[in-house]
Amino acid sequence: MAILSRREQLMELFPTAPAYRVKQVEEGVFSDAKGWEDLRGLPADMRATLTAKIPWMTVHSETVQESRKKDTFKAALTVEGGVIESVLMLNRREQWTICVSSQLGCAMRCTFCATGKMGLTRNLTEDEIVDQYRFWMSFLKDRPELPPRISNVVYMGMGEPLANYDAVKRSLQLLLKHTDLGETRITVSTVGVLPRLEQILTDKEWPHVKLAVSLHSADPVTRKEIVPTSYDDFLPKLEEWTKQYLRILGNRRHHLTFEYVMLKDVNDSPRHAELLAKLVKRAGAIKVNLIPYNFTDSVYTCSTDNAIETFLKILEDEGVIATRRRTMGEDIAAACGQLIVLKQKTPAN
Ligand code: SAH
Repeated sequence: MAILSRREQLMELFPTAPAYRVKQVEEGVFSDAKGWEDLRGLPADMRATLTAKIPWMTVHSETVQESRKKDTFKAALTVEGGVIESVLMLNRREQWTICVSSQLGCAMRCTFCATGKMGLTRNLTEDEIVDQYRFWMSFLKDRPELPPRISNVVYMGMGEPLANYDAVKRSLQLLLKHTDLGETRITVSTVGVLPRLEQILTDKEWPHVKLAVSLHSADPVTRKEIVPTSYDDFLPKLEEWTKQYLRILGNRRHHLTFEYVMLKDVNDSPRHAELLAKLVKRAGAIKVNLIPYNFTDSVYTCSTDNAIETFLKILEDEGVIATRRRTMGEDIAAACGQLIVLKQKTPAN
């Protein structure tokens, strides 16, 4: 059974509500209010119906873990049918970046990623995605000793955002409309679902947030091995798409990144770096973000520091802009690819 969004439930309950009421409700959800009853601008009977019928929150905190350095928090959040994870990380601006999940589990089975092992249960709704933002906002309100502002959102938690295109799109629209986040402060990360990437090129309603494509190898055989949803002509097609994207949307505000997880003796040789540099140079102004592999239950280990530095140097010598991602929250398994909900739960500390 499909789960109705808050907006759909609202329309069902109040089919004749004037537009300004709907707007009041939608804005109220993102305000400091703690429940429907706090929205004093709404008539009392409407508040009572909302309280009885529509949950104020679609995600409920199970546990929140805190890293030793106190710069990363990971929440296990109960949603209908399971538990998702969401992460809060201190960024260089001393503000927070949140990492949100877009699906309960994931169907992509990337061999180095823990979430892939769960399989896919279902897509999250737009509300379950934006409620991760609301959850962290209210968490920060209760912790006045922490910086108060969430300045960035990355769709890099559980799930493949573009496999849940419509809900992700609506969640982006809601965040842009009701929070102080701008398009360049939000990044959607994708394994590279080409039909959806193509849709973005012509979809007038798709907000032009930043995109990150999880490339992980510019060698077709290696990519297929670690990203099993890859296929024979994926790389030339991605290159073609990239050129189009940069032509249509490629001003400075629309950054495109290729993510590249560094796996020892798998995709980290100088030959792989050369292949990557060549692809990037053919495709255009793309940044490369090298992600040191974070431990999960897999056959891989992280590339050595030396290998990563050599790899970076080859890219830089070729004129490719490349950075190395800081790893955060490893001690609470909150780093990239470590989000998995195990049967036994870890208590909050
Ligand atoms: N499905 C989206 C979001 C995944 S998580 C995507 O594929 O982009 C964000 C990034 O973390 C992706 O690039 C993903 O490949 C990477 N990742 C997954 N497991 C990892 C691990 N164990 N160590 C480091 N990065 C990992």
